[in-house]
Amino acid sequence: MATYHALAITLRCRRLGEADRILALYSRERGPIDAVVKGVGKPKSKLTPVTQLFSCNRLLLAEGRSLDVVAQVQVVDAYYPLRTDVLKFAHCCYLVELVAKSTEPGQASPELFDLLRATLHEQTSASRPELLVRAFESRVLALLGYAPATDACGTCGRELVGETLGYLPSAGQFYCGTCVASTPGATKLCRGTLQTLRSLARMPLDRVSRLALGSQIAAELRRVLRAHIAYHIGARFRSLDFLHQLQQNTIGMAPGA
Ligand SMILES: [Zn+2]
Repeated sequence: MATYHALAITLRCRRLGEADRILALYSRERGPIDAVVKGVGKPKSKLTPVTQLFSCNRLLLAEGRSLDVVAQVQVVDAYYPLRTDVLKFAHCCYLVELVAKSTEPGQASPELFDLLRATLHEQTSASRPELLVRAFESRVLALLGYAPATDACGTCGRELVGETLGYLPSAGQFYCGTCVASTPGATKLCRGTLQTLRSLARMPLDRVSRLALGSQIAAELRRVLRAHIAYHIGARFRSLDFLHQLQQNTIGMAPGA
């Protein structure tokens, strides 16, 4: 059986009988990998760390017919705090679901892997996990070639000037202050939201969660990025249902992903 090494983040883990687990991994070298890990239900298994969601591990895998088999695990980053804080856990579930839904087996993207790893790392100490999610969304879209065009109006092609701009989910485009009035169905947004969207895509990740954003801009950013992702990748994310439930059940919790 051929073997290979991979640096991989665990996106999903489900039970297979008593002791085995099926994993969805995202690796730096090969992109998505579906693998089975055996015997982790038993005490003292050295393979158990790979079953922890979001953990980053250096793995030795054996190629199988349908699923590869995890043979060795060396922990690189456990990201333990992401599994002990329910709000961070919920946001990170969305990050990994977004990666799972936007990638295909056999297509590696070291840039996307590095982005996911860096974002998970920042989430361990982030005070506002939702802002890191926004930055992640905008960068994933850019890596996939779906970045929203934030420099020109979808109708007149000129610079996006005006205090109130528009975004049309069905076209995935922004509209200037003049053209937005003649664009039915466009979501209105303020100029600051567009400026924040531009800077979120570029600024160092360790500065993102320290941004001081008003609630209007935060809500508009969430709406625009969600609509753009729905347009290009898909609208259904189970992790978002979980996050919304969490926010409805928790009084005073900050608005999230
Ligand atoms: Zn225009």
